[in-house]
Amino acid sequence: MSNQSIRVRFAPSPTGPLHIGGVRTALYNYLFAKKLGGTFILRIEDTDSNRFVPGAEEYIIDSFKWCGLPFDEGVGIGGPYAPYRQSERKEIYKQYAQQLIREDKAYYAFDTPEELENLRKKLESEKASNTSYSYHVRKDMNNSLTLGMAASESMINEGIPYVIRIKMPENTIIEVNDIIRGKIEVNTSTLDDKVLWKSSDQLPTYHLANVTDDFLMKISHVIRGEEWLPSLPLHVLLYQYLGWQASMPQFAHLPLLLKPDGKGKLSKRDGDKMGFPVFPLEWIDPKTDEISMGYRESGYFPDALVNFLSFLGWNPGTEKELFSLNELIDAFSLEHVSKSGARFDFEKAKWFNHQYLMQKSPEEIGNIFMKINKEKLEAFPQDYIIKVCGLVKDRVSFVHEMWSQSYFFFEDPQQYDQELIKKKWKSDTNTLLSDAINVLDNISLFTAPAIHDALHEFCQQKNIGLGMVMIPLRLSLVGAGIGPDLPLILEMLGKQTVIKRIQKSINTIKSE
Ligand code: GLU
Repeated sequence: MSNQSIRVRFAPSPTGPLHIGGVRTALYNYLFAKKLGGTFILRIEDTDSNRFVPGAEEYIIDSFKWCGLPFDEGVGIGGPYAPYRQSERKEIYKQYAQQLIREDKAYYAFDTPEELENLRKKLESEKASNTSYSYHVRKDMNNSLTLGMAASESMINEGIPYVIRIKMPENTIIEVNDIIRGKIEVNTSTLDDKVLWKSSDQLPTYHLANVTDDFLMKISHVIRGEEWLPSLPLHVLLYQYLGWQASMPQFAHLPLLLKPDGKGKLSKRDGDKMGFPVFPLEWIDPKTDEISMGYRESGYFPDALVNFLSFLGWNPGTEKELFSLNELIDAFSLEHVSKSGARFDFEKAKWFNHQYLMQKSPEEIGNIFMKINKEKLEAFPQDYIIKVCGLVKDRVSFVHEMWSQSYFFFEDPQQYDQELIKKKWKSDTNTLLSDAINVLDNISLFTAPAIHDALHEFCQQKNIGLGMVMIPLRLSLVGAGIGPDLPLILEMLGKQTVIKRIQKSINTIKSE
């Protein structure tokens, strides 16, 4: 059921690879929109030309393609409010900044970087409660409030650089409700006269562009990271000042993603240090060529990553943890998003991948496995490879770990686990294995149940424990104490290979 009034946007700045926290933010926007039949929009906020990084926008788009979270409207798709890239909307913003100047809600400021630096130093040395450019210092600075409008306009005409600053009211309470955090009240005396627009690049700052576009694009809910909470009073004031209060969106500020130890915000450095990715896809820095790991390249399934991320700040209120995307859409609500930061538990990410790996069909896993191990598997029939995948997929978290659990289905063991030999290869083991060869050779239909029965009978007749034969057998066939049920391994390898490998181990391994 579509609901045209529900419109949410993910609004990244293309300043580098998309942090995994950004993917979580977009996911919550997506789930919220889909649940209510609304529209999920991608807007690129690229007004800060100094921080623009080539390739970042494509990276963002590719990331969501891979995650399986398609946008309904926005950059790369189009829609009724195009363009969705802010650098292409330049002309739109200035008129609103000028409207604010006309209504005495903003002013021109000409202060040079040195003057601003001096102001900062002065306020810091005075230990002022508000150390920024705000109501208590604006009367001492170089702006249209002190110079007058006529003088200011002629300075502008002369080409003197300027910015437009909001005129923050003094000692006024701004009140706003956040869906996750409840009522928020801020006294404007603690806020500064933020820059809204700059003549140097003829571009708005984030605040003006963001609020203007949310209004013009009829955004109904702003769902974004907690780091934007300090900007909220300014944004609310902008809605009031621009006369857009009646269409102000509702706000929901999501909890931060915290480091694995819960102390502070999750950063790229944490991932590098502890060996886990903090980006959805691999990223190669265009300046330094430095490579950052991605979830995709690390072997994660996109649906497992999405399921994992959904739980970083939200829970369904039940014990259930495995959710398909459709189930997440049904279960999601902002009311169940927590206020406190979500600790990033990388082991849990692996756990989710393991669960998804187990759920996937041997065919699906087989296809990936064949791609990763193309050369080694060339000589084997597809059916055989898929069967192997079915046997070992429960033992790993990633498809790339499957070779180490299954190599013996494809090649003779290159070495034998010496520790295990020391413990389990007794003086009579070679004789036992020689006898076992005869037993196995006599099985006419070489299937796991027949092998199982024959080996059990053999141990009974010899009056020895099963392990006396099974462990050395495993060592002969696998080279180590790993792998699925032994009779299954024998069946898969076939009589000839089995006997050849046992014979080889008898010849190679010396008894204690
Ligand atoms: N461009 C901002 C960012 O990079 C958007 C914040 C918002 O959603 O308002 O995250």
